[in-house]
Amino acid sequence: MSIAIRLSLLLLAATWLLGACESTEQVHNGRFLAFGTLTDISIAGTSREQAESAIAALEEDFALMHKAWHAWAPGPLTRTNNLLAEGVRFAAPPSVLTLMQISARLARQSDNLFNPAIGRLVKLWGFQKDTIENQRPPDDAAIARLVKANPTMQDITIDGIHARSNNPALQLDFGAIGKGYGIDLAIEHLREMGVENAIINSGGDLRAIGSRGGRPWRIAIRSPSGAGALGFVHVSGDESVFTSGDYERNYLWKGRRYHHIIDPRNGYPAQGTRSVTVIHHNATTADAAATALFVAGPKDWHRIARRMGIRYVLLIDGNNVAHMNPAMAERIELADKDQPVNISKPLTGQEKEKK
Ligand code: ADP
Ligand code: MG
Repeated sequence: MSIAIRLSLLLLAATWLLGACESTEQVHNGRFLAFGTLTDISIAGTSREQAESAIAALEEDFALMHKAWHAWAPGPLTRTNNLLAEGVRFAAPPSVLTLMQISARLARQSDNLFNPAIGRLVKLWGFQKDTIENQRPPDDAAIARLVKANPTMQDITIDGIHARSNNPALQLDFGAIGKGYGIDLAIEHLREMGVENAIINSGGDLRAIGSRGGRPWRIAIRSPSGAGALGFVHVSGDESVFTSGDYERNYLWKGRRYHHIIDPRNGYPAQGTRSVTVIHHNATTADAAATALFVAGPKDWHRIARRMGIRYVLLIDGNNVAHMNPAMAERIELADKDQPVNISKPLTGQEKEKK
């Protein structure tokens, strides 16, 4: 073989190798509407055909879950809510039963700051609607009545597939957990379909598995203004990043803004926090915890995070101070270098104090 031929064969092999690298690193993207927000799927390490069929399957999954857990469109959850309000023992729809059980555990761990039993309060505030224009805050007396009735997940008895509530004021609203649980189920489905490297990102809340051709995924954290990024974190392996913010759903009435995260202890939109970002292994816990820590606020988030087993927290308070634990501070890259920061005590025994 002549040197020229050998050289061109070598070149051919090199470009083929490069091409092979490129195709495994290539990210396939899909986008659809789910849970009222845009959901982006990124898949790496598969063929385009495999990614496309996985994305189509997920779109169907999300449509089903959206129907199953919708708080006001008639379906399994509204039927469940009617039966819970009646106080009868009934066979719970499977799609609702598991979420009730998981929610009961997370509610207990969060001291009921995450409390999906306060559907009536959420509705009273006008957040169980497709559009929240021309909304005004409810009467103080109506709020006080629901707070006094104190519905919690502990009012529901579950035995086998049967459920019953002994609190007529109880209504389930999975707005603070459904997206997280949906993303967890979708990740499981992706793995069953042979996908090992992916991100499912629903309106900025996401779970990432694997990597992008061996490199970690770089994730933007939404800023409390709702626009742009507050900072960035790298995730690889399997992690979820969830943010709860007052910018997500809110309305203005007589110069005051009312948002959709309700403090179950007083029945009003939780004060003192603008956003909370949680990084955790599974998306269900990350979602519920972001809501719970938002309600807990700058003074109490640390205690609730420990109770819930959360290891990475970032909370932006009403004065734009970023509260975080040392391990979170270690891995976050803040967009604004002048952002005021307050580093807390470690959340776990393994975590080092920030010097
Ligand atoms: P996001 O809209 O950013 O995903 P959350 O995950 O915090 O926000 O969910 C907020 C939704 O959860 C509200 O729209 C409402 O349906 C419900 N909710 C409000 N307050 C609470 C609470 N304290 N505990 C559980 N669910 C809540
Ligand atoms: Mg949540």
